[in-house]
Amino acid sequence: MLYYAEPVAKLIEELGKLPGIGPKTAQRLAFHILNADPGVARALARAIVNAREKTRYCSVCSNLTDTDPCQTCRDESRNRSVICVVEEPRDIVAIERTREYRGLYHVLQGAISPMEGVGPDELKIKELLARLRDSSVQEVIVATNPNVEGEATAMYLARLIKPLGIKVTRIAHGLPVGGDLEYADEVTLSKAFEGRREL
Ligand SMILES: [Zn+2]
Repeated sequence: MLYYAEPVAKLIEELGKLPGIGPKTAQRLAFHILNADPGVARALARAIVNAREKTRYCSVCSNLTDTDPCQTCRDESRNRSVICVVEEPRDIVAIERTREYRGLYHVLQGAISPMEGVGPDELKIKELLARLRDSSVQEVIVATNPNVEGEATAMYLARLIKPLGIKVTRIAHGLPVGGDLEYADEVTLSKAFEGRREL
């Protein structure tokens, strides 16, 4: 059996810890990095460390940001009477790409999933309610994923928010059921916003 030199083995091991990267892919990536110009490896390492050290979660909306509050929360040109609730920061990127929505966001950082032991307290729901209490928000659009966890989360939020006298809507279906928001194409996602219904 061939053993890799220690630094190479370590690189393969670390790459293999990334999501969706199996041992074969980890090996391929490691050899790509080792065969490339040293500058490539340095740029990659710097980008990883930089991104990790310079980003945190926005204290208002819980999106990933390099400033606090984030750019979206500070943007005075956005419609402050609507908050779109999503599961993950990457969902915001998908929605922004449609150019259909100009309100604010709130990232829950997951969805309610009894199977995985994720309850409402693990999500940024308290923070959302605090925002609703002292602001002029008139509508909350729940854009959680169209799967069991996303639907359960939408229902839960509607029960909490409706008594505050705020309209709660859910983006329309047409999005693939069981799918992830981030993989929806722009037209489908755009239509889903237009066709949102009240919860
Ligand atoms: Zn923010």
